[in-house]
Amino acid sequence: MKKRGMCDCLVIGCGMAGTVIARELAERAGKKVLILEMRDHIGGNTCDYMNESGIFVHRFGPHIFHTDSKRVFDYLSRFTQWRNYSHEVVGDIHGQLMPIPFNLNSLHLAFEPCKAARIEQKLIAIYGLGSKVPILELRQQPDSELAEIADFIYNNIFLYYTQKQWGLAPDEIDALVTARVPVFISYDNRYFQDTYQGIPAKSYTLLFERMLNHPNIELLLNSDARRLLRLEAGEVLFDGSPFNGTVIYSGPADELFDCRYGRLPYRTLDFVFETHNITWYQPKGTVNYPVDREYTRITEFKHLTGQALDGRTTIVKEYPRAYTGADSETPYYPIQNPENLTLYERYRKLTDEFPQLHLLGRLAEYKYYNMDAIVKKALELADTLIK
Ligand code: UDP
Repeated sequence: MKKRGMCDCLVIGCGMAGTVIARELAERAGKKVLILEMRDHIGGNTCDYMNESGIFVHRFGPHIFHTDSKRVFDYLSRFTQWRNYSHEVVGDIHGQLMPIPFNLNSLHLAFEPCKAARIEQKLIAIYGLGSKVPILELRQQPDSELAEIADFIYNNIFLYYTQKQWGLAPDEIDALVTARVPVFISYDNRYFQDTYQGIPAKSYTLLFERMLNHPNIELLLNSDARRLLRLEAGEVLFDGSPFNGTVIYSGPADELFDCRYGRLPYRTLDFVFETHNITWYQPKGTVNYPVDREYTRITEFKHLTGQALDGRTTIVKEYPRAYTGADSETPYYPIQNPENLTLYERYRKLTDEFPQLHLLGRLAEYKYYNMDAIVKKALELADTLIK
């Protein structure tokens, strides 16, 4: 174990948040950074690898990078080239595949031509071509035909999928969650419309290896901060000794304080991988199952990675459930509701006593961040720390 005084900054977690801030502190501020990662691999949930069948897969479900931020894109592009990939998702609605987000192409697949054309005109007149309308907003429409299509979308795209994913109905969760997948008044079938989108040309793992490859960065895998870091009476203790440097923590905020107010609720996922002796399993990268099945979606990795291989393909099915806090489970999705946010705020407030400590990332901030938002947040934190 590192002895105190041997590093200037401690970073807990080697996912996107921890890795970007570590690189920034090491490179821009010349700090000696020690990263503690509890898992046995870098990259957090972006971790990817070649499986035993020779198919390149994402270990924790599909990770498609997308951003409108030039700064974020340029930053990551220092460490990776990109495969130009625009993700497309279709929903299997009783056997019929239609684009998700539900868009004008979906409309014409779901309704007979005259009706679809009429509804399309109304949607364009009210919202404008190219606009994105959250389903909960569309449901407020007084026009009976629009109310009917809002009901169709709500019932066939959102209701059961959300029930599976969150254990709750769409109107029982934060409206921003379903607004991530709005009704899209457009013929654009892409899942994201960001300026920059793709997958690291070789792998996320290589992207992380390159970010971590700096003489000022030292990484310890299999190192659980819950055992090494103590916060007591305004003092940070690392491995039993006072530590005065900057600490960036990207783990769950409650675990930093032994869950003393109770656990912050999360949803977790079970990933079930299958390899099939066929070239393609499904027509698009992801097929969602919003009306049946126990899993929410199936992703076929060759669509994402562009790997050319005949006669073999790997898919992953995602089964959501409640996170219990067991060490074998991973908290993936914070459940942002007023009660949980209040609980989070109690934990966050405890960190006020430790000005050297900064919470960063999806777990530590209890926010449903996309990858690019985490990179942006890490770069901005670096800006404030390095003056
Ligand atoms: N959603 C849904 N049906 C779909 C796709 C999404 O109901 O076919 C809802 C669901 O509540 C989901 C949320 O929209 O949790 C956000 O979806 P997104 O694809 O952004 O989730 P992620 O990829 O982060 O799991």
